[in-house]
Amino acid sequence: MIDPFERTITYLRVSVTDRCDFRCVYCMAENMTFLPKAELLTLEELDQLCSAFVRRGVRKLRLTGGEPLVRRNVLWLFRRLGRHVERGALDEVTLTTNGSQLSRFAGDLYAAGVRRVNISLDTRDPEKFHKITRWGKLDKVLGGIDAAQEAGLKVKINAVALKGTNEHELPEMIAWAHGRGMDFTVIETMPLGDIDGDRTDQYLPLSLLRAKLAERWTLDDIDYKTGGPARYVRIRETGGRLGFITPLTHNFCESCNRVRLTCTGTLYLCLGQEDAADLRAPLRASDNDDLLMAAMDEAIARKPKGHDFVIDRRTKSPAVARHMSVTGG
Ligand code: SAM
Ligand code: SF4
Repeated sequence: MIDPFERTITYLRVSVTDRCDFRCVYCMAENMTFLPKAELLTLEELDQLCSAFVRRGVRKLRLTGGEPLVRRNVLWLFRRLGRHVERGALDEVTLTTNGSQLSRFAGDLYAAGVRRVNISLDTRDPEKFHKITRWGKLDKVLGGIDAAQEAGLKVKINAVALKGTNEHELPEMIAWAHGRGMDFTVIETMPLGDIDGDRTDQYLPLSLLRAKLAERWTLDDIDYKTGGPARYVRIRETGGRLGFITPLTHNFCESCNRVRLTCTGTLYLCLGQEDAADLRAPLRASDNDDLLMAAMDEAIARKPKGHDFVIDRRTKSPAVARHMSVTGG
């Protein structure tokens, strides 16, 4: 699959549910209206869709959400998708999770063929954690991280950089993660969906964070790539890798290799644009995949050049109305 800007699409992210057991302040409002359950694709249908993408050249699948591990029987989907990795058609199946359910699932995920997980953790301070996630419990997540490492999963910690909230804690968190052999990635807040608050109060440009970190450590740019949008440095003093995801201060759209599928079968061609294609109707319309493949090709031919995120005092409305939990982060 090659889009109009000559980018080859090899990476599919799938939001298996828009529901979540947390309500992170930058991601959701406290009272969220979720998609009606009747609209959801079954796990079998999600498998069929993902498998069609694999046949079309996708090499990497990431299951995300919402919180993917709150979807009932989601392990079945991991196991099914693992068959593509076993036969060499897919490089990997990965997961992005808030970690709350990992103590229960880590071993089974490894057995299903998952080898790498991204765990979101913005702070190690229990009170701050509660303030950011509204409903989350820090000890559950820390237990989940332990369980993941014990199960043999390679863990990367993702933190959204939040002005005045975790800003000053990030160096200590990076040192902690590197001390445990975990990569660390920091993310700029993106204007996706209405939240109960003003994003300008949360937004911390990572150029500022990087300058601060460079006063303390030596940051060597490295060519490491995971297929995602992060640019990596190695910190000489800790020996660990640190990734920066900077959709606002440094747009990375020119190398975008991704599309995103929602749990209702809508394919979004860009996280920050409205362009989408319904794949549920063609999927359900016939017993073979011809209609579906045609709809996928038509969609890829419409992939936009990039997003136009802005966070400032004058721009009050989000770039798109969808929350990250719908499109899949
Ligand atoms: N619930 C899982 C989790 O939190 O890891 C997976 C879904 S979550 C939407 C995926 C990632 O998106 C998380 O790392 C989260 O911090 C990040 N995220 C959510 N809303 C965001 C926003 N508005 N800007 C930047 N990152 C955001
Ligand atoms: Fe849930 Fe992840 Fe969004 Fe937090 S960032 S509310 S854990 S989907």
